[in-house]
Amino acid sequence: MYARPVKLRVVILGAGFGGLELASMLSEALGEDVDVTLIDKNDSFVFGYSKLDVMFGRTSLDAVRLPYREIAKPGVRFLRETITAIDPAARTVTTDGGVHQADVLVVALGADYDFAATPGLADSNEFYSVAGAQRLGELLPTFTRGRALIGVCGAPFKCPPAPSETALLLHDYLSTRGLRADCEISFVLPLGTPVPPSPDTSRALEAAFAERDIRFVPGRRVSSLDVARRVAVLDDGSEMPYDIFFGVPKHRAPDVVIASGMTEDGFVPVDSSTLQTRFADVYAVGDVTTASVPKAGVFAEGAARVVAASLIARLRGGEQPAAYDGRGICYIEFGAGRVGRVEVDFLSGPKPTGTFGAPSDALAADKQHFGSTRRARWFNR
Ligand SMILES: Cc1cc2nc3c(=O)[nH]c(=O)nc-3n(C[C@H](O)[C@H](O)[C@H](O)COP(=O)(O)OP(=O)(O)OC[C@H]3O[C@@H](n4cnc5c(N)ncnc54)[C@H](O)[C@@H]3O)c2cc1C
Repeated sequence: MYARPVKLRVVILGAGFGGLELASMLSEALGEDVDVTLIDKNDSFVFGYSKLDVMFGRTSLDAVRLPYREIAKPGVRFLRETITAIDPAARTVTTDGGVHQADVLVVALGADYDFAATPGLADSNEFYSVAGAQRLGELLPTFTRGRALIGVCGAPFKCPPAPSETALLLHDYLSTRGLRADCEISFVLPLGTPVPPSPDTSRALEAAFAERDIRFVPGRRVSSLDVARRVAVLDDGSEMPYDIFFGVPKHRAPDVVIASGMTEDGFVPVDSSTLQTRFADVYAVGDVTTASVPKAGVFAEGAARVVAASLIARLRGGEQPAAYDGRGICYIEFGAGRVGRVEVDFLSGPKPTGTFGAPSDALAADKQHFGSTRRARWFNR
């Protein structure tokens, strides 16, 4: 009698950009030869940039939700469960549905929001969660005059160009409704420039702010909000009054990851070339890590591809993949339907670099293509 070969059990925590790409690649290469469990507490995936579309009424939440029940990949089992404990040394995961034992554990749980770090924010508005963007989308039609303030409460934060895009899209939103002359737009950013690795991109965004009379306050973060007085307090003690606030909360790893003992300074340290944590056969990819790349879907996806290639080589034989290169393309909404692009390279040279693609209709089509290829690959849509 031959013993049945035991399949490698890969447990992926989080079905976001990183988890979905990892599960897809393992399924494509290994099919039923691997036992992949993909766990997420939500019933659907939403692209980060869709939050802006929902907030500005360009689409509905239902239209951009991609239900996990549509995942149909050989070797992959999706479980809608909330992870309540992770033991990285034993590679054991506890959820509200049971206990899962992994041979290889991949933490792809993204970044969570630390509302307590910014007093007053919990009683105001943010657009970085689906619920927050939807709430602001409901509030926006009531904003007809006064001061709009887009305020980032700490770095690092997801998709560094997103608050800049918000300022430009808000200008469009108000202009289309004939309200722009009655409204001021200000934007507070803890970074020195909108996209630090790419001076050309930053210059183009700053020029776009100036053309649209958007007040840009770089190098400052919102440290608290006095909601009763409708005033944001910046980290230098100065105050900025607002009538509507669009917040970006401070980020950190989800509580369950912090409780697991895997984090340092709020995120999971990894070897940036292999994505391995200090625990054997435990990897971490994407926003949950301290990898020296920005927190964006393209980087989570790129990191997941390196982990997948390494596991495929382990099972099929063959060379281990080249080190993660930290390269990615981010699309940037400039308003009026035009989209720019920054192609960044964080790890292959001595310092990060970024190449700017000027806003155009062609790049708007490229962004659509970016979304539709992921939809097709991850959800067969
Ligand atoms: C407004 C906005 C615009 C953006 N635009 C872009 C863009 O244009 N391009 C780009 O590349 N990136 C963009 N991003 C960033 C992008 O969305 C994230 O960087 C990306 O999703 C990170 O992928 P990830 O796999 O690390 O984590 P995520 O995609 O956040 O996935 C983490 C998953 O873990 C799950 N999870 C967390 N805790 C638990 C738990 N306890 N139990 C079970 N499941 C749990 C969550 O439900 C989630 O599905 C944008 C983000 C925002 C907010």
